[in-house]
Amino acid sequence: MDTHTDILSYLGKSFHCPRCGRRHSLPIRKVVNENGALLRLPEIVRELFGSDVSMVLVADENTWQAAGERAARLLADAGKVTPLILSPRGERQVSALDCYVTDICAAASNADLIVTAGAGSITDLGKRAADLCGKPVLCVGSAPSNNAYTSNLAALLVDGAVKVTLPCRPPAGVVCDTDVMVNAPLDLIRAGFADSLAKAFANADWKFASMLGLGDPYCSLPLELVSSAESRYVEQGEKIAARDRCAITALVDGLNFGGISMVIIGTSTPASGGEHHISHFLDMTAHQRGPEVFALHGLQVGVGCLVLSRIWKRVREMPRAEMERRLASHTPDHASYRKIVEDNYFPFSGTLPKEYDGKLRAIGVLRSRLPDLWEQILDGPARIPPEPDAIRSWLAAAGCALRYEDLGIDSRIARDAAVCARYIRTRLTVLDIAAELGLLEEIDSFLA
Ligand SMILES: [Zn+2]
Ligand SMILES: [Zn+2]
Repeated sequence: MDTHTDILSYLGKSFHCPRCGRRHSLPIRKVVNENGALLRLPEIVRELFGSDVSMVLVADENTWQAAGERAARLLADAGKVTPLILSPRGERQVSALDCYVTDICAAASNADLIVTAGAGSITDLGKRAADLCGKPVLCVGSAPSNNAYTSNLAALLVDGAVKVTLPCRPPAGVVCDTDVMVNAPLDLIRAGFADSLAKAFANADWKFASMLGLGDPYCSLPLELVSSAESRYVEQGEKIAARDRCAITALVDGLNFGGISMVIIGTSTPASGGEHHISHFLDMTAHQRGPEVFALHGLQVGVGCLVLSRIWKRVREMPRAEMERRLASHTPDHASYRKIVEDNYFPFSGTLPKEYDGKLRAIGVLRSRLPDLWEQILDGPARIPPEPDAIRSWLAAAGCALRYEDLGIDSRIARDAAVCARYIRTRLTVLDIAAELGLLEEIDSFLA
């Protein structure tokens, strides 16, 4: 059965999962990813929201140029459109600062619908505002850089520099026009490509944690869903970087299906594992100085995928006797790692103490169950991630960074991020297996 057509047939429905037997629901009603998709906007708005709809269209100066202006003009056929073009407040370009959410809510107070025309930040701002003011949101993409268009999360910066990821209602509809996507800035295209490689790693982490009875129970549907799209573009890095329409349309499917997989599971688990934890650590470090991050999210995640692929390879090749010897001889001093973070990077405030305590409990379970489950882990989750050579060649073909240093990130920060990132999220990942087996003492070989 073709999972691609399958999942789109589940749009707007709740369904019995053919894989895990649970019920999943997918409240997104329309996902359009094709040439000329913008032209269909009036028809889509009428279909989803009726006629004479009053809309606020949110963009920033760049995304207004890329897609917003045209979308606004076309949408005038479906109702009244009030543009809200955000300008940076001290940042280089509009980032997901929570102050913009207030502006969007105010502008939308008399509107029926919020339309976002933008990439990750604008989309997340619009989804968050829509949630707060109880309006539906329609997301028009401006770049294939993220999976925010279809996801149920909004990553925001509160109080100027504290990053929070908030659950939110997914959009009612998503519209990605190939003409817009292929003309996006190349770095954003590369970032989307690199971020999309995280799914295999996130699913490996998820399956492994689920074997220990921790986190969301594993379901194989999300990975099948994204793999069907991924197989059409992962080996097409050169074409992605050359803005090939076919490859980029497949990439947008991969990204959108990644967001959908989060919606059907209800959390970010199918799309975010250890590679994302390292990226979050880097962002939190950068945010100590203000809203700018070190590098685009997807590019940081791509390097994280390469690092994790090397760690998984090391785990896959480890005989049971070595695992047992390592587990017995290594007992990481968690408090000392927390102190490294607090002394050099950021305070353990907000939700971090809870995540840290949860992680220590999860590590306890990991250490007690690892010997029983070792062969099952090697046969199951450890087989999901691609080999390092494959990840490296896919990233290189698309012109994506291969090392954190290539992104201008100091090597000491990169090393500490890879070693300490596991303490900022309760969710178990291969970084925890590696750390508990003393493998992170070889971190330089994984970062090389
Ligand atoms: Zn399922
Ligand atoms: Zn991501």
